[in-house]
Amino acid sequence: METKIGTKCVQGGYTPENGQPRQIPIIQSTTFKYDTSEDMGKLFDLEASGYFYTRLQNPTNDHVAAKICQMEGGTAAMLTSSGQAASFYSVFNIASCGDHVVSSSSIYGGTYNLFAVTMKRMGIEFTFVSPDCTDEELDAAFRPNTKAVFGETIANPALTVLDIERFAAAAHRHGVPLIIDNTFATPVNCRPFEWGADIVTHSTTKYMDGHGAGVGGCIVDSGRFDWTAHADKFPGLCTPDESYHGVTYTERFGLEGAYITKATAQLMRDFGSIQSPQNAFLLNLGLESLHVRMQRHSENGLAIAQFLSQHPQVAWVRFPGLPGDPYHALAQKYLPGGVCGVVSFGVKGGRKAAEAFMKRLRIAAIETHVADARTCCLHPASATHRQMNEQELAAAGVSGDLVRYSCGLEDKEDLMADLDQALNSLA
Ligand SMILES: *Cc1c(COP(=O)(O)O)cnc(C)c1O
Repeated sequence: METKIGTKCVQGGYTPENGQPRQIPIIQSTTFKYDTSEDMGKLFDLEASGYFYTRLQNPTNDHVAAKICQMEGGTAAMLTSSGQAASFYSVFNIASCGDHVVSSSSIYGGTYNLFAVTMKRMGIEFTFVSPDCTDEELDAAFRPNTKAVFGETIANPALTVLDIERFAAAAHRHGVPLIIDNTFATPVNCRPFEWGADIVTHSTTKYMDGHGAGVGGCIVDSGRFDWTAHADKFPGLCTPDESYHGVTYTERFGLEGAYITKATAQLMRDFGSIQSPQNAFLLNLGLESLHVRMQRHSENGLAIAQFLSQHPQVAWVRFPGLPGDPYHALAQKYLPGGVCGVVSFGVKGGRKAAEAFMKRLRIAAIETHVADARTCCLHPASATHRQMNEQELAAAGVSGDLVRYSCGLEDKEDLMADLDQALNSLA
């Protein structure tokens, strides 16, 4: 039965049979027992499906991945130990030494570093394009060895909104998939597959977990990108894998299963960035209320953005849900039901004033985290971007007065009163 997103959040991925546990069981077991070596051999050859070692697959993780898969409207999904692992696997599964990837420049700093420094050392080149570039500039970024396009629905921390349809069309014109990091929007507020994206990644550490309890990641495949139509670009999916007795992933698992099976069979086998079953259980508790929480986070985000935009001590506010924001039109298209809870703004008086203001906050805590049940905030110029001088900060789009404020689930009147007293103390 086709259900809506809230029902999928609560019930997706696990359907107990008569007399089975109502909640997803935590299978805290590294290994699984078989009667014969032949039984096990079939699993190793990917001829039968089943569990044998938790580094490759675990039932708890599979239930939770299946839930996120349903929420995004995909055909296959896998959990990873972190969002960083998900970003790495999503690209490395289809690109290797000598290949090239086009990425939006407006992405999470950790992803930028992974791409521009660490994966570059592995021989994969990235071209970064502005999310606002023209179609001509976008087309010009592609090379014959380009294997994917990458972007974020709502970028952390820049809060730009990606024109997913336009980036998907460009990727498909050049015969490669579009990978979208959907962490800030979550499938409650945007489902990138509905706009042409092919693969979605998540840092489940943020809203999906939502309680600051467990670091994790997820990759979901739409099953729609036709690897075989561009077989020369994707030999890893379309030609035999000698490390698995010559299995050709697209032939054996179809377009719906090839990408995730390869990522599990090769990358998880060799790199082992698994999520623990215990963390997957905690993640599922978060997912069960994600649709309810996202509504509240988004409402609080908009209310706080509106409040700040009228406050005399505030120099500027960026929130895509705010009329007049440069990304308002894209937010209306891609995030009609709500944006997220993260707002950035500048305090009048610059860097010193921003630091003084944050010290006065009583409800919002100073943390590097975002997208949590508890409101938190960060002054990037004195934390994540601390090493940069004023010119470097300007180039990174981080002004000295910028405060990143992540609205939690508290009552918005209390958040406003807290902001108001801290801002007024500057006057
Ligand atoms: C936090 C974050 C990541 C990295 O995820 P971790 O779980 O911290 O490894 C990736 N993308 C976005 C958008 C994030 O906010």
